[in-house]
Amino acid sequence: MKFHGGLRLRDHKQALSGQSIVDAPLPKRLLVSLRTNRGVEADAVVSVGDTVLKGQVIARSDDVMVSDVHAPSSGRVTSINKRPSAAPDAALAQVIEITTDGLDQWCEPLAMAGVSLPELMHQAGLMGMGGAGFPAHVKYGQGVETLIINGAECEPNIACDEALMLAQPERVIRGTELMMQAAGAEHGIIAIEDTLGGVGTALNEAMASMGVSGISVTQVPNIYPTGGEKQLIEVLTGLQVPVGRTPAVLGLLMQNVATAAAMADAHDVQRPLVDRIITVSGEAVAQPINVRALIGTPLSDLLSLAGVDSDAVDGLVIGGPMMGFAMPHADVGIDKTSNCLLALKRSSERPETAMPCIRCGDCVQVCPQELLPQQLFWYIQGEQWEKTRSHHVNDCIECGACAYVCPSEIKLVDYYRFAKAELRFLDYKQGQSSHSKSRFEAREARLERLKKERQAKRHAKTAQLKDRKAAKKEISDVLARIKKAKDENND
Ligand code: SF4
Ligand code: SF4
Repeated sequence: MKFHGGLRLRDHKQALSGQSIVDAPLPKRLLVSLRTNRGVEADAVVSVGDTVLKGQVIARSDDVMVSDVHAPSSGRVTSINKRPSAAPDAALAQVIEITTDGLDQWCEPLAMAGVSLPELMHQAGLMGMGGAGFPAHVKYGQGVETLIINGAECEPNIACDEALMLAQPERVIRGTELMMQAAGAEHGIIAIEDTLGGVGTALNEAMASMGVSGISVTQVPNIYPTGGEKQLIEVLTGLQVPVGRTPAVLGLLMQNVATAAAMADAHDVQRPLVDRIITVSGEAVAQPINVRALIGTPLSDLLSLAGVDSDAVDGLVIGGPMMGFAMPHADVGIDKTSNCLLALKRSSERPETAMPCIRCGDCVQVCPQELLPQQLFWYIQGEQWEKTRSHHVNDCIECGACAYVCPSEIKLVDYYRFAKAELRFLDYKQGQSSHSKSRFEAREARLERLKKERQAKRHAKTAQLKDRKAAKKEISDVLARIKKAKDENND
């Protein structure tokens, strides 16, 4: 099956093929962001000056959408403050800086007794490592028939998942097994690009040697963005996830391949997620590399490892060339979703300013979500937010296919991100005002109730007084009658 639109892009991965994963040296300092991609932050549970061990919880939250954050190595907390993070738009986030002690000493393993698999995912800090950063544990509910492991990283330059599946297929298979168990899924599918023949062989051989069944490896066409959740589901099953719903309505659950490998570590060696593989690539990198680096490793360390002089770089992007985010400088730590670091040189061909839309319709042809990108652009320019909403801007997956083909070089995705933020803000304000309205109505109802209660008390008291008066009168009448009777007897 195929989804609507999409692009065939040059993958720029040849330079990485056949290369083994490079282990990054232990950084002198780690910059661990407490922010998730959804904008929520965990709360630090350590203070400046504290010593920490590798794997120790350093931040957590009561919010179910936030997983625990762990120290990626042992050392001392040297600062906790707001600084740019590797999250979308390099958002300012609370960042814990750890000066490492060089010992890389682990704390106690994760507690397993009486802990369910989803709870273990929560405690191990597992989240979607393909870029979305959705906490893994919240996806597990009832009715999942098939678990899909997404190994289809169709964005150019990114090859970290391919490297993982080639180097450690057993970890991926084991994690898949555990996630199927957690979801109660009968089937597992590991989806890989059709250009990754060696990966399929490695995974199938690992399954055979481990005696695992119930999991199949399926190749999908290398058309961007097949790795998107809804697109991959359509390619694999022919089914479309309804607008505003999750794959669970189709009995499906999707996790990234690196998240599956992290699940195996959490369960089998009781270790939380403290490192990941990241591709370092881009025009300024002579030899791209796949690096296993601790979460929080500064971008400058990765550039040095790839032999890149950070001062000679014209731009840094976390993520791929289509969906990545520009970073302001190299003193930013990678997070669990950082799958690629691109070091760029300025292109002399690209115009700096966009031209007006010529209504060519190219963007409509390639949109995998079947949206009307130029119409959305029109509404956003006119600040027609409700029209933007009704034309489903929130379904935009920010794949950048429309901007890629736009002959006017309009940065369409920036407009959609802005519109989504604006709608979130409007919803927030609406929520605030309905909250105030319901508080006002509750207060009015309470006052009305008190008034009625007071009135009822007053009526009861008046009735009581009347009763007392009547009783008094009755007694005095009786006494008068008795006196009269006595007087008559005496006469
Ligand atoms: S591709 Fe660009 S120029 Fe063409 S319709 Fe879309 S926004 Fe307009
Ligand atoms: S960025 Fe959004 S609007 Fe543009 S092609 Fe992708 S999904 Fe469609």
